Amino acid sequence: MIPKHTIDQIFDATLLEDVVGDFVVLKKRGANLLGNCPFHNEKTPSFTVSPAKGIYKCFGCGKAGNAVNFIMEHEHYTYPEALKYLAKKYNIEVEETQESEEQKQAENEKESLFLITTFAANYYKQQLHETQLGRSIGLSYFYERGFTDESIKKFELGYNPDSWDAFTAVALEKGYQLELLEKSGLTIVKDQKHFDRFKGRVMFPIHNLSGRVLGFGGRIMKADPKSAKYVNSPESEIYHKSNVLYGIFFGKKSIIEKDNCFLVEGYTDVISLHQAGVENVVASSGTSLTEGQIRLISRYTKNITILYDGDSAGIKASFRGIDMILKEGLNVRVVLFPDGDDPDSFARKNNKESIIEYISTNAKDFIRFKTDVLIKEVGNDPIKRAELIKDIVVSIAGIPDHIKRSIYIKECSNLLEVPENALINETNKILRKNFSQSTNQDIPKVEEAYTPLDSEEKLIEHNTIEHWESEIIRYLMLYGNNSIKLDAEDEEGKPYIYEQEISEYIISELSNDQIKFDDSLFQLVYDEFQEAKQNGRILSEQYFINHTNDKIKNLAITYSTNKYQVSENWHKFSIIYQSEVELIKMAVINAVYVIKLNKINELINSLRKELKDIPNDDDTLIILSQLDKYQKVREVLTKRLSWVVMR
Ligand code: ATP
Ligand code: MN
Repeated sequence: MIPKHTIDQIFDATLLEDVVGDFVVLKKRGANLLGNCPFHNEKTPSFTVSPAKGIYKCFGCGKAGNAVNFIMEHEHYTYPEALKYLAKKYNIEVEETQESEEQKQAENEKESLFLITTFAANYYKQQLHETQLGRSIGLSYFYERGFTDESIKKFELGYNPDSWDAFTAVALEKGYQLELLEKSGLTIVKDQKHFDRFKGRVMFPIHNLSGRVLGFGGRIMKADPKSAKYVNSPESEIYHKSNVLYGIFFGKKSIIEKDNCFLVEGYTDVISLHQAGVENVVASSGTSLTEGQIRLISRYTKNITILYDGDSAGIKASFRGIDMILKEGLNVRVVLFPDGDDPDSFARKNNKESIIEYISTNAKDFIRFKTDVLIKEVGNDPIKRAELIKDIVVSIAGIPDHIKRSIYIKECSNLLEVPENALINETNKILRKNFSQSTNQDIPKVEEAYTPLDSEEKLIEHNTIEHWESEIIRYLMLYGNNSIKLDAEDEEGKPYIYEQEISEYIISELSNDQIKFDDSLFQLVYDEFQEAKQNGRILSEQYFINHTNDKIKNLAITYSTNKYQVSENWHKFSIIYQSEVELIKMAVINAVYVIKLNKINELINSLRKELKDIPNDDDTLIILSQLDKYQKVREVLTKRLSWVVMR
């Protein structure tokens, strides 16, 4: 049992936002903090943390509590375990009088495995620092590699002695069960014999998000062509490789701060970069990148920069990883280091500033990277060139966001000198194929969406009210829950910026002016969206694609398969507005203003008509003043519209 005074001490030291912040990205929202709930799947944040009250509550799933509850829920800890977790976090000593009791009581296999990995990590550390061989073999190796004492301590590096069962023998002696030692992967059992998996290796513990040890990587010390240079813990009840990234525990704060995650190959790259002061880095050590790992990163940032050694044979193999990152909706860039250097060696030779400088000047987006890598093989061969283009288009088609797609299509077109049209058609084809494969149904033929603005006539056609209503509905369906930053003025005329969801913005703007859609189908979708929104739900693209109303369903499918451009009018701005957030913001505001302007024009026209057939002077005055008011509104709208376009 943990004594009462220690519990009090833990509660006093604990900052809820700090505890939650280790797992959830929190943004300030008034006096509270807001983030995506870790207990249920959501895209719009409804997980609220009140630092003042020390409580959290999710308005989506209803989970609520204090810091201890959070850790219990999130880490599946018991009450005392959660307290110990917090105690460790805040460096509070807990008298562990009943440690061995508890150890026996940990029936829960996972917990037992954690006890073993923790024990092992401590054992390896002790071997490294406190034994003659550990120091002369392991520690001196780390020093030779340029690791500092600080890094060795921080990453809890260790050493497993070079005898058959050094670790296993001690663990058994301490009362850990052989069966569990085997399950942890640290001990190999064969024909009644048992021995250490990591014999004669320096040890890199692999930590989970909260810093508990899940498994290990071990690097061999003797040059031995028969053994692998690196050996890793096998999958276990607590170590699921596809969901783990080396370095995430040490890097997550910096990843959030920098809003970018560097992805490297292995342990030494992570440690050397940290040592140089670059901390937003993780490694997928031992496995090729998985979806689970990408999702893990995406909890902290949507930007991944892959760092490669320039002469790596694995560069082409990286293409699969890049496509996976794109499919998860994240942005990916690639940096190649000079020949002969990997991130580890580069980090050791350069200081923080020059590392960051090198990365930022050499980061290429995936199109440029793929093109640069492949173009050497292509030369003047037209068939190979076509294959290269196709290859890149397949990557582009995998990107879920249509605005991003349109920006990349533009870049690809510039870089490879292929007409944009051709690329769009090609992308469209793949999208449709993917779509019918994924839904297993024939989709209605969609009209070719790309219409070049080559004649005045087409421009007018595109500027019909129906077109703009369609744009609004499209933004709601595809982008409803994206946030945009808006400018406003407070009562004293001071400008400030606030963030709003696109759906929120559109609905409030349109309902303020009581605007109805001319098209009844659009109105139907809008009503449904608004109603759901009032009930705290945001309807997704997928929802409309599976809609029971065939017309709505077809509309959604059309948008979904044609969603590579915001609007033809905006297409040409995609060079200026490099960021798609900016692009969509402008497009949405523009559409809302155009719709409003249209309504005002209608009102003005009908008033003018009225004015003609009214004999009575009194009425004329009323109408004139009304007209004046409308015209003023129109002026403001026109001004704002041109402002939007000009900016
Ligand atoms: P050397 O001193 O010969 O350069 P190294 O320890 O730096 O050896 P590399 O072969 O250069 O290792 O590999 C680079 C990175 O890739 C290392 O950080 C290592 O952690 C990681 N790595 C290599 N092979 C594996 C593997 N099988 N499993 C996990 N990580 C690996
Ligand atoms: Mn190396």
